[in-house]
Amino acid sequence: MAKFDDPGFPDETGELGVELRLVLGIAARKVLEGVDDAAFLEWARDAIPNLAPTMLVDVPPQELDREAFWIGVSIWNAAPSPANHYQPSPVPKPGRNDACPCGSGMKYKRCCQRLRPVPDFPALVFWPVIAEVCPKTEVDRMIADPGFPVDGIGLMAECFFENGDYLQVIRMLEPPLTGGAERIRTEHAHWIDMLCDAYDEQYRTPRKKLALLDKMTKHRLKFVQGEAWQRLCSIRIDEDDFGGAHEAFAAAMRAQPDNPLLSILELTLLGSLGEIDQARRRARFWLQKWEGHEDELPELIATLRRAVSDPMSALQLSIARATGDDRIERLERWLSASLERSAIGWGTEACGKLDVHGDDSEKPTWTDREAVTLMPPPALGAALQAWREAAEIGKPFATSLDPMDYDNPWDDADEDAWLTALELHPEAIDHLDILDDLVLLLREHPLAGSVYGIDDMIPPLLLRARRIVEASPIGEDRILPWGFLENRPGLRLLTQLVLYYQDNGALSEAVELIQWLLELNPEDNQGLRAMLINHYLRAGNYADALELAQRYTRDFLVDVTYGRVLALFALGRRDEADTALGKAVDRSPLVAQYLGRARVVRPEFHDAGISVGGPDEAWLYRDEMRDTWNDTKGAMPWLKQTARNRERL
Ligand SMILES: [Zn+2]
Repeated sequence: MAKFDDPGFPDETGELGVELRLVLGIAARKVLEGVDDAAFLEWARDAIPNLAPTMLVDVPPQELDREAFWIGVSIWNAAPSPANHYQPSPVPKPGRNDACPCGSGMKYKRCCQRLRPVPDFPALVFWPVIAEVCPKTEVDRMIADPGFPVDGIGLMAECFFENGDYLQVIRMLEPPLTGGAERIRTEHAHWIDMLCDAYDEQYRTPRKKLALLDKMTKHRLKFVQGEAWQRLCSIRIDEDDFGGAHEAFAAAMRAQPDNPLLSILELTLLGSLGEIDQARRRARFWLQKWEGHEDELPELIATLRRAVSDPMSALQLSIARATGDDRIERLERWLSASLERSAIGWGTEACGKLDVHGDDSEKPTWTDREAVTLMPPPALGAALQAWREAAEIGKPFATSLDPMDYDNPWDDADEDAWLTALELHPEAIDHLDILDDLVLLLREHPLAGSVYGIDDMIPPLLLRARRIVEASPIGEDRILPWGFLENRPGLRLLTQLVLYYQDNGALSEAVELIQWLLELNPEDNQGLRAMLINHYLRAGNYADALELAQRYTRDFLVDVTYGRVLALFALGRRDEADTALGKAVDRSPLVAQYLGRARVVRPEFHDAGISVGGPDEAWLYRDEMRDTWNDTKGAMPWLKQTARNRERL
């Protein structure tokens, strides 16, 4: 017999699911057309054995039509009857000595009572079917019936939502949520989310949704008001309208003082304001309020417990949990466990010396050093293989730090094969390629860059990469050229560590790491020398700036060409400075012009990158270094004078 009471029903896949949907579809149409129970059951007895052979596969032939009849009864008893305001009107259950309803002429106890009982149909399975088979005008007419089952509205709206018919969702849910029908209860609170999401999908601007929320804040029912205020609060937080968010939060508290989710909303608001200590205090308050309800609110209590010490990561986890996504939690666990292991250095493979064009006198000294590629220890082979099979990451193009287009794995909470691969291989923490991918993955997280602490996982990965490269036998007589693909993950990770140091004001660490990177990969494909020379010049370290510029004599980076000019000038080597400035102005005249001006309009920037010799390049250099030029005594007047003289020539 069919498993009518399966929770997956009627989405059950395979033959049985197809048959059930077919039978229910026809049955729904018949019931809504107004057939009576007798006609319906007659149809069921004749039609179901043909429509649903799998359903009846183990029924003996002589019992087929009776079994089909009782399936019909079960369907009828659950079906919404138009004559009864679309509530079911079940047929009466026969007594033992009554004539059997199947029409055999025997007593029930001698006839169908002996058959295996057909399970009752859950009434709610009909609503998705009706949403599918009924014309929408008829759906509208049905739900206008004041006795219409209120649960049916939400269940049908869910189907329309899944099919992308957002307008229909709006037509069904808006009236009850903005005033009209009064029969909704707190268990329909999720309709508010559905309706707001439908607005987001249907309309390009938030204007209509805001008007809707405004109406809901005036609803007769307090829980609708409260939910609407909560949403308004979140929207205002996203818009950095913290005053408005506070007002909305206070209104939500007035409407639903005992809604446990308000605790999370308040912590989000405080976190967005950077009031972390206050967030901790409020987490303690909310924890005291709800701690006794751990059985009903286990996840909320867990979040609040964590929030007492670390509010932001607690919020991030609660957002993830709300979407059934525990991957950040698992990744954190994996990370803290595997970081306990001591870092393993990689091996190297010799690749000979790099061939650099030009005559010998111009060849940089590092061309004498042997080029090597980093080779993972064989013990990491299984980890990489498992990772590659499970994770698909779009490695960045060339020297970019952003991944190429690929399906963002965070979009699907069920996609966790990559995590399972990590969990099976704690040693993956020492694979540079995997670390590189993990950093990219974390940057792709929908909450990356926000206050929720996703980014806090990145620095330990970058530092680990540094430990690994430091533990590898490279030494002073070898280089790790970017040209070899094997070296890119390590170099990319170290470059990101430079940026991390820089963004966090750790300038001496940044300088020291760039110096090392320029030793490892003297060709400096990432342009780190520009950052370094600017650091030197800002610190008044002109000798090192000049030495660096001399290493890159034919550089195209204006930071280096103009940096060399400034270093020579500051060191009092005026003749050389004049010549260098002349060359720099010839190659990049806009830079000198922009540097000299008190105000420059920000030019247009292009996604493809900075244009060599273009206004974007000149603007960026000015933005970065004008203060330093101004602070170097006599440099700016000299620059302007020289530039003017050259223009006259
Ligand atoms: Zn019977």
